[in-house]
Amino acid sequence: MTYRPPATPDRFAPRFAELATFMRAPLAAALDEVDIGIFGVPYDGALTNRPGARHGPREVRNQSSLMRAINHATGVSPFELARVRDTGDVPFTGIFDIETAHREIEAFAALHVAAGIMPLAIGGDHSVSLPLLRAVARDGPVALIHVDAHTDTWDSFQGSKFNHGAPFRRAAEEGLIDPEATVQIGIRGTQNLPEGWEYSKASGMRVVFCEEFHEAGPAAIAAEARALVGDRPVYLTYDIDSLDPVYAPGTGTPEIGGMTTYQAQVLLRGLRGLDWIGADLVEVAPPFDNGYITSLAGAGLAFEILCLLAERVAAR
Ligand code: MN
Ligand code: MN
Repeated sequence: MTYRPPATPDRFAPRFAELATFMRAPLAAALDEVDIGIFGVPYDGALTNRPGARHGPREVRNQSSLMRAINHATGVSPFELARVRDTGDVPFTGIFDIETAHREIEAFAALHVAAGIMPLAIGGDHSVSLPLLRAVARDGPVALIHVDAHTDTWDSFQGSKFNHGAPFRRAAEEGLIDPEATVQIGIRGTQNLPEGWEYSKASGMRVVFCEEFHEAGPAAIAAEARALVGDRPVYLTYDIDSLDPVYAPGTGTPEIGGMTTYQAQVLLRGLRGLDWIGADLVEVAPPFDNGYITSLAGAGLAFEILCLLAERVAAR
């Protein structure tokens, strides 16, 4: 036998073997000849409640080792459609300052964008979506599909306007997203003030509370989101707390009354064919997880997202 470097997992090796990369994609040796770069953002310095999302990328990598290559529902095989690579983790040097950490996230994502690579980031707390959007929305405001229990359009908390409850308010203010081409799906839970909900609605965002989601069903809500976005460049941000805590207990701010994993799959499969420019999946917090339920759900939904991005790459 010959020695094979461990940086290149073999898809047909036993799935419990090899390095745990995202979805068992090969580790990138460089940023050329890559269509989709899946990378970790192990940062949770902007949380307002339970910690632990910094451990999300590693555990999602671990659980995604269980996955195979073909999406049984859509027939999509993302690794056939695109050169998918695990491009590593954001290399932090300043995690004790939110704005420094955000600059490092933006710089790492921007390397991907400059190389023509579609980014799929695995967080991390939801604050990381702001620097990711700064990297992908350089040519003007993009459309946004945001799945979450929370609108994340609150303002400052404990002296920082970059906390994980605020990224989409900042993104609107910075002209990174077009509020009128933004849809927020799965919103619910108690709040002390209605400020975030009101900001979203007043700015023109379509806010789908979870009661409406359950009433209409995921396919109908996906169809509405597709119509709202149309042919605009669109970014997908997926907060794992959109799932009910039964399906995703390992997260910082769980809210009952949420989606099932199946509803989330139907929702995502209903978003095929859009002009995707990138995506993230955030807020998996392994220290609060039970039996890897949440990181497995995160891995499975990240695979659905990867299928969407791979179809977009193939259509170019
Ligand atoms: Mn969120
Ligand atoms: Mn949330």
